[in-house]
Amino acid sequence: MQGISDSKAEMKRIKNKAKELSESIVEWRRHFHKYPETGRKLPKTADYIEKNLRNMGIEAESGIGESGVCGIIRGKGEQKKCLAIRADMDALALKEKNKLDYSSRHEGKMHACGHDAHMAMALGAASLLQDMREELKGDVKLVFQPAEEIVEGAKAMIEDGIMESPPAIDAIIGAHIGNLWGLESGEIGYRKGALMAAADRIEIEIRGKGGHGGMPHKTVDAICVGAELISSLQNIVSRNISPVDAVVISIGEFESGSAHNIIAEEARLTGTVRSLSEATREKLPELIENKVASVCNSAGAEYSFEYHHGCPVLNNHTEFTDYFVEIAREIAGADKVKEISSPTMAGEDMSYFLQKVPGTFFGLGTSDPDKGTDYPHHSPFFNVDEDVLWLGSALFSTAAYIWLKNN
Ligand SMILES: [Zn+2]
Ligand SMILES: [Zn+2]
Repeated sequence: MQGISDSKAEMKRIKNKAKELSESIVEWRRHFHKYPETGRKLPKTADYIEKNLRNMGIEAESGIGESGVCGIIRGKGEQKKCLAIRADMDALALKEKNKLDYSSRHEGKMHACGHDAHMAMALGAASLLQDMREELKGDVKLVFQPAEEIVEGAKAMIEDGIMESPPAIDAIIGAHIGNLWGLESGEIGYRKGALMAAADRIEIEIRGKGGHGGMPHKTVDAICVGAELISSLQNIVSRNISPVDAVVISIGEFESGSAHNIIAEEARLTGTVRSLSEATREKLPELIENKVASVCNSAGAEYSFEYHHGCPVLNNHTEFTDYFVEIAREIAGADKVKEISSPTMAGEDMSYFLQKVPGTFFGLGTSDPDKGTDYPHHSPFFNVDEDVLWLGSALFSTAAYIWLKNN
């Protein structure tokens, strides 16, 4: 790979500096962990990021996509390109059960997905790159994004112009820590192409005709129609979609009925629809609505149907990922860099950024049973192995440094 083999000395230098920064990265992470905020309004989190960027001498602007923060490191060189490092900022509405001196001080909120670590790794990379700015051959945009868990933040930042506002973003990199892809602590996971699913939402209302539980022939039973619909929807997955193309339709809510002897007039169903290719995704609204229509029509029920598009499929760009893998092998050692064998059907709104520019989203394992950091994401006991967070900063900054040097 062009430029990587002749940059080994610089990579080693960045790696060593990242290791030296480990204590600060952990301190930042613990601060974020202590004061978690959820959704689009993250005033304390944004302030802390802005303050730290300014302390490093980095230009920073907040209020992008409501609470998003953008930092800019300006490098040298003509016809500069700009690489963005993206970190999500939001926590979850969950009561932390860990007993740590940096446990959540915000009752009922917790960083249980590791976004606290993402922000700390990005601040680490910011510090490393700012120190090297005289040698940087382009600009680095630090994109701190709110509202990942509700899949609104990336879209909101894009609508506020984060991609085009100068310097316009030419490539982007991001990561998720934890054990999402079975990675052990210190392992790095990559995958070219689809890594995470498009996640859409459906809402269905069925209107039948209520009546006496003992006289069903005089009614249109909304519960029966709903039940038939739930199983019919699975026929879409098994009969209309190629067996080697993954789709999930899960009904998560089914509300209906008021008493044991009354036939329900109405039912309301909501569900999630996941897919791994945009071509398949395009077909799903019509396939699902046809199924709803045919089940309701044959029973004599009326319906309303809404299909809400969520985040798109997260597609990692092949060339950029190849380039990232080379760097990761150099930084972490080839044995620590693992290909993620299959995508997951979870969604991640980093996908909006990757729809616009090339880049990659990688996994950094932080799961170590001996340290008690192997609880699943969104568990009240979730925690991360802090000893490997410097690696995230090293990977972000090396990828930025070398990509800007060669593009
Ligand atoms: Zn999460
Ligand atoms: Zn997450």
